[in-house]
Amino acid sequence: MDDQLIAVRDPNGVRPLILGELHGAKIVTSETCALDIIGATFIRDLDHGEMIIINQNGMISSRPFKPAPSKFCIFEYVYFARPDSILETKPVYSARKAIGRELAKEAPVEADLVCPVPDSGVPAAMGYAEAAGLPFELGIIRNHYVGRTFIQPTDNIRHLGVKLKHNANRAMIEGKRVVLVDDSIVRGTTSRKIVDMVRAAGAAEVHMRISSPPTAHSCYYGIDTPEQKELLAHTHNLDEMKEFIGVDSLAYVSLDGLYRALGEAKRNNEQSQYCDACFSGDYAIELTDQNPMPKSTSRSKILRSRENNKLAEQR
Ligand code: SF4
Repeated sequence: MDDQLIAVRDPNGVRPLILGELHGAKIVTSETCALDIIGATFIRDLDHGEMIIINQNGMISSRPFKPAPSKFCIFEYVYFARPDSILETKPVYSARKAIGRELAKEAPVEADLVCPVPDSGVPAAMGYAEAAGLPFELGIIRNHYVGRTFIQPTDNIRHLGVKLKHNANRAMIEGKRVVLVDDSIVRGTTSRKIVDMVRAAGAAEVHMRISSPPTAHSCYYGIDTPEQKELLAHTHNLDEMKEFIGVDSLAYVSLDGLYRALGEAKRNNEQSQYCDACFSGDYAIELTDQNPMPKSTSRSKILRSRENNKLAEQR
């Protein structure tokens, strides 16, 4: 029927699904920030396994699936969600700062300043700087003017393309020992280019700190990650990754540290409310065939495009 909206959240609640309202009309979205943008009101998260049907008679809710353990994607807090969203009652921005603080406790380093890899590394870098007692500085500037429709670049400039999007802030980092904070390393190519850029701008030392554990496994639960053989953390140990990226030191937050930042004493695989399979390899939801995920949901496409943009920006 084309006069009703049906929304279903997966039984384990891996992906977020939010219900909102605007002028009496119900709205379903993946993140609360989408409600803010259109001036809608947040009502609630859909329950895991809940199905709602909205039509002109109102809304009915049902639970057509067998109850299943909660396995909310922990990577949403690290990277996927926007920082101005609230997921499962937790503000993403605060979660990212807390992860940064844990990272500083676990992997301190003598340095002069802390710089985020913009934009997704910003809240974690703020948390790291706060806990480490180091200045937080924008050592890499993202050019938000490139690509605006009222600026029509010539073909030559377009050819330079994405390199214009990020630039090292030489005045801030020249001669300094820099802690670079990013949310994750996937293939490592982006990180290597960023490090090259920071070194070329005269940084005395570059220490990379990552606000997630090593991404060593692919996701089969709705995120279009590369195959496992393409993941740097699958094919390299920590020392090899450090060499590949070209940093003076490299450290990731631990799985327990990530859980602590989200308010749990430590990771408890049996009882954890989160999926962390891309870090731990523990696929709590059974994979029923070799290629279980159609890699074409709109959310995966958006996330893939965000990741591609991130990669492209450094090319
Ligand atoms: S495998 Fe990773 S990205 Fe996929 S749902 Fe689990 S935590 Fe999230």
